[in-house]
Amino acid sequence: MVLATKPVDLDQVVSDALAGKELEREVALGILRYPDERLDELLEATLAVRQRYFGRRVKLCVLNNIQSGICPEDCHYCSQSKISRADIPVYKLKPVDSILAGARRAIESGAQRYCMVASMRGPNGAVIEHMAEACQRIRKEFPTLELCLSLGLMSEEQARVLKQAGAGWINHNLNTSRRFYPKICTTHTFDDRVRTVENVRRAGLSTCCGGIVGMGEEDDDIVDLAYETRRLRVDSLPVNFLHPIPGTPLEHTKLLTWQKCLKAACLFRLMNPATEIRAAGGRELNLGPHQDKVLCAVNSIFVNGYLTTPGMAYEPTVRLIEQAGFEPEVD
Ligand code: SF4
Repeated sequence: MVLATKPVDLDQVVSDALAGKELEREVALGILRYPDERLDELLEATLAVRQRYFGRRVKLCVLNNIQSGICPEDCHYCSQSKISRADIPVYKLKPVDSILAGARRAIESGAQRYCMVASMRGPNGAVIEHMAEACQRIRKEFPTLELCLSLGLMSEEQARVLKQAGAGWINHNLNTSRRFYPKICTTHTFDDRVRTVENVRRAGLSTCCGGIVGMGEEDDDIVDLAYETRRLRVDSLPVNFLHPIPGTPLEHTKLLTWQKCLKAACLFRLMNPATEIRAAGGRELNLGPHQDKVLCAVNSIFVNGYLTTPGMAYEPTVRLIEQAGFEPEVD
């Protein structure tokens, strides 16, 4: 269903967002289609909402790809899927010592959150045991480091074991709308993903759940995803901007404009005012010299790259944050 865009009254949008009101669909579309030449106004309005909950703080996160390139799923954007021909490292689940060493590097990189990601459909009992041991050991050595795990589809019982071991967040992205989902993956469904997010919440863990923009979806799909993340009351929301990786089915996808990426980030903030929102993969490629502006919407970014693509190192990231008038979070 494509509705006409309604003129956006930004004062009203800010006041509705701060009052916890859901934006109307036409308004949400209007944000995604806000005129490029007035983007600064949208960023300023979004900043007012971001500041209410997160001040000018920016949380740094570090990823560790703990099992690479051997996933049986066929997510078209992913370099690690069974149908990808991307030239990436391939290895099985890293030993606990190596995952622990990654936590140490995350701390040295100024990170507050350590995100351990394994390419798999979902964990079996042995993987859960392995990751529970990893979490316990990291917790013991680095008690304040936030631990997030991304292990694919997960049951409530599995999530409970990880919570007991000290994990705080489980990441499982919805990626796009229910309508568009079959266009980007055929080996599992949008509802499979929703179920995992619900299992994680039922287990008492925080949910980390977002998506990717720029995969060929329509504006309505981005709006649907924003509504779904709001409905699920996700605690943490990564916004990825597609980085088309050679060897994946989406390798020739045209990049969105940097303005469109920023408008999408603003929409996720205005729909999820109090949620921790992170600019994730594809930030450097898609936003280029405009990366600082995304901090008006998000309160968290990654340092030292992504799962199979490089990213900005710690020092330039901190410079970027400070020059934009924000401050990196410290423990
Ligand atoms: S389930 Fe995860 S690792 Fe596997 S193909 Fe999809 S995105 Fe990639």
